Formats: sequence, C-alpha cells, structure tokens
Amino acid sequence: MASSRRDLAVRAAVARGLLAPAGTAEPGSPGPASPGSAGPAGPVVALLDVDGVRASAAALTGAFAAVTGAGAGTLHTFAVKACPLVPVLRLLADAGIGAEVASPGELALARAAGVPPSRTVLDSPAKTRAELREALALGIAVNADNFQELARLDALVAAGPTAAPLGLRVNPQLGAGSIGATSTATATSKFGVALRDEGARDAVVRAFLDRPWLTRLHTHTGSQGVPLALMAEGARAAYELAEEINAEAGRPQIDTLDLGGGLPVNFASDEETPTHAAYARLLAGTVPGLLDGRYRLVTEFGRSLLAKHGTVLARVEYTKTSGGRPIAVTHAGVQLATRTVYAPEAWPLRVLAHDAEGRPRTGGEVVQDVAGPACFSGDLLAAGRSLPLLRPGDVVVVPDTGAYAFATPYAYNSLPRPAVHGFTVADDGTVSFATVREAQTTEDLLRESGAAHADALVR
Ligand SMILES: *Cc1c(COP(=O)(O)O)cnc(C)c1O
Repeated sequence: MASSRRDLAVRAAVARGLLAPAGTAEPGSPGPASPGSAGPAGPVVALLDVDGVRASAAALTGAFAAVTGAGAGTLHTFAVKACPLVPVLRLLADAGIGAEVASPGELALARAAGVPPSRTVLDSPAKTRAELREALALGIAVNADNFQELARLDALVAAGPTAAPLGLRVNPQLGAGSIGATSTATATSKFGVALRDEGARDAVVRAFLDRPWLTRLHTHTGSQGVPLALMAEGARAAYELAEEINAEAGRPQIDTLDLGGGLPVNFASDEETPTHAAYARLLAGTVPGLLDGRYRLVTEFGRSLLAKHGTVLARVEYTKTSGGRPIAVTHAGVQLATRTVYAPEAWPLRVLAHDAEGRPRTGGEVVQDVAGPACFSGDLLAAGRSLPLLRPGDVVVVPDTGAYAFATPYAYNSLPRPAVHGFTVADDGTVSFATVREAQTTEDLLRESGAAHADALVR
C-alpha cells in the first residue's frame, strides 16, 4: 500500500520533470523549472509520502492511548534531527506531534513550523547559558544533561520564575545494542547522569530533593539496533528512580517521565516493524505503574515516524564494469546516505531498479555495485547487490530515506542538497506534489563557501 503509493509517485515525479534526464542536468543553472517552483530539476530528488507520515503519527498516538487510558496524558514530540524540514514539522504538529530540539537551529525550525513552546522539549548535551535562558523565557521544557548544567539552571531559576518544566537526563547504563554509535545507554555513554556510577543515584535523588522545581526525569535508551526489551528496561529504570524520589520527597514531585525515542526501523522490506503499538504493549507489560495515570509521559521518536516515508530518486549517469563487476554510477551517494556509505553493515538500504520512465524494472538479476557521484572509492549505496541490470538513464529508487538521510545532507564534493517534494495520491491514483525544500543552487553553494570573502587570504 505504501509501496504502491511510492511507485505511483516515482512515475509521476519522472513524468513531471522533477528529476532531470541523465546527461542533461546542470544543477544551479537555468534549466527546466520543476513544478512548485523548486528551481531547476537536478539528477537526484527526494520525495516524502505525506499520508504515510500522517499514518505513522496516528499509529503512535493510538498506540499510547490504548495502553495509558485516561490519565495525565502523553505528549509525543518528534526528534527534529531526524528530519529537520519546517514543512515536515508543521505536518507533524498538525497531526498532534510536538518537537524535541537539541540546538538553537532546531529550536528555530520548530518555532518557524509553529510548534508551541508547551509542545517543545530541549535536550542536548552542550546547552549554553544563552540557550538555557531563551528556553526558560519561552517556557520550553528543558532536560539538563548533568550536574553542572543543573547549577546553571539554579542560577536562572533564582533570577525569576519560569513556566518551563525542568528535568534531568539519566543514563541507566543498561548496555549497547548492535550499533555502537547509536547506543545511548552504555556504561560510558556521553549522555545524562550515569546512574550506576559510584554515588550517582544518591546524588540524583539529593539533586531533586534540593530542587522542588525539578519535576521530570528523562532517559533515551533506544535507537537503531537496540532491542525493544532494552528500551523498556530503560523506561523501567526511569520509573523506579521516579518512585524512589517521590517517596523520599513525600509528594509526587516528579510528574512527568520523558522516555526518549529510538524505536528501530526495518530497512529490509516495506514492512513497518516493530510497531509503536508493540512497543507500547511491551511497556505496559514491563512497567505497568508507568502507565497508570500518575505520570504524564513524553516521547521523542524520530526515525520511526519518518524513515519509511522518504524516497530518493537518482539517475544512472553511466554504467561500466570493473574487474568483471558491473557498476552503475548514479547521482545518489554519500551526500544523502552518509551513514550507509560510511557504515554499510550497520545501515544497509534497499536500492530498487526503475527504468528511465520510473517503472520498476523486472527480469534477470545481476550482481552489481550501485555507486554515488563522490570522489572516493567507498561511495557506494550498495555493493554486490542482486538487481535487474541498470542502464544509463535508469532511475534508482532508494526507499526508507525519510530520516537522517536527504534531510541531513553532507556537503562532500560540494554536491548540492537535492529538492524535496511531498506527495499525496488521490483515490484515482493522481499524484500531487508540493515543494518542501528547493534544491541548493550554485549561488547558494558559493555563498555558503565564502565566495564573498574570495580575497580574504591573499590580501
Ligand atoms: C536522537 C534522539 C531521539 C530520536 O531518536 P530516534 O532513534 O530517531 O527515534 C530522541 N531523543 C533524543 C534525546 C535523541 O538524542
């Protein structure tokens, strides 16, 4: 269903010239303007399935509503870093999802999208005093990462009252998942107060007792490669600590538990597993007290809300063989699928072969490499992948790229950021597109590369 929408959108994008034909694209130069004023069409473009995003937002909301019943309620926020595009944040806000921000830039995006302060949460390990002051002035929830940051909050709170709910991030040190770089709850993780370190738990309890305004506990245990059971254990650890603190305080001082995000995504097929519903049910089974209405919950899912709904389309510019291996040289590589290119074992992506009109290619599969445009040999979207043999002018379709991919591009080789278009499919199969982000032009690239200071080093 999502895949048939995607196939219709790929066909329509090619038919309407959102993707330049092979050999013709000159990014940044006057060319065939694509509909929706996204600038000249380039040889690579990204699409976002608007109905898919709405469906995931509804599934998340429904999953927690089903296990929490009538209680203090749940605020679902979207981790902006997974897809930092203002129209996407506005779409999610329209679907009832707030924003988790971790930098002044992400906060600015959330504000530009109209996400209210009451539905925004600021987490980051390196907040400056100015960032903290701004968040408190706006009334945005802040989770402090460490005791030094708590001391800064002390000074700000003493300076005047704030409506901002304030919390502390803890690391339950439960161990790693299968991907080191995204495992947040290891013994030596950089995030939060390491709860199992000598004396740390007592210090956390004391920090709360000393600060009646500190009302939230935050943990973010999951991520790609982390099993659901470990995520639920992280929630249990935060819940048990909250119970201990509230018992010591003799009142329900902690009223909100922020559980982070981190639901893994299936990159192997179009199946959406694990589901938010499965995770919510596991939470209900593992930590029933968490959901009995005494605590308000906050979630911060990123990848699981967006990844399945983004697709990259790129032209095959050339094909060749090297050492007997067929290679398709395409316009999608490290600039859009950075993690996949640098850590292909941890972040495999599917690559689908479509013909020059955007129709799925069928027929005999051949083991081949799908290469990107960047000038280093590791710039491969897929190595030794069995696919219908790609030809020059074909379109490679890279699904599951809605999070941490085209929306977070990498500037290697000054490859331009591609345009992003949202799409919807009517019942009769008609596809409508809306511009989400223009392609980066050569003028943009020059400006961002110091062209205004061209003489600066030779004067
Ligand atoms: C990155 C991050 C998230 C979102 O993680 P996903 O794996 O994309 O769901 C949520 N909370 C915090 C604090 C994060 O750093």
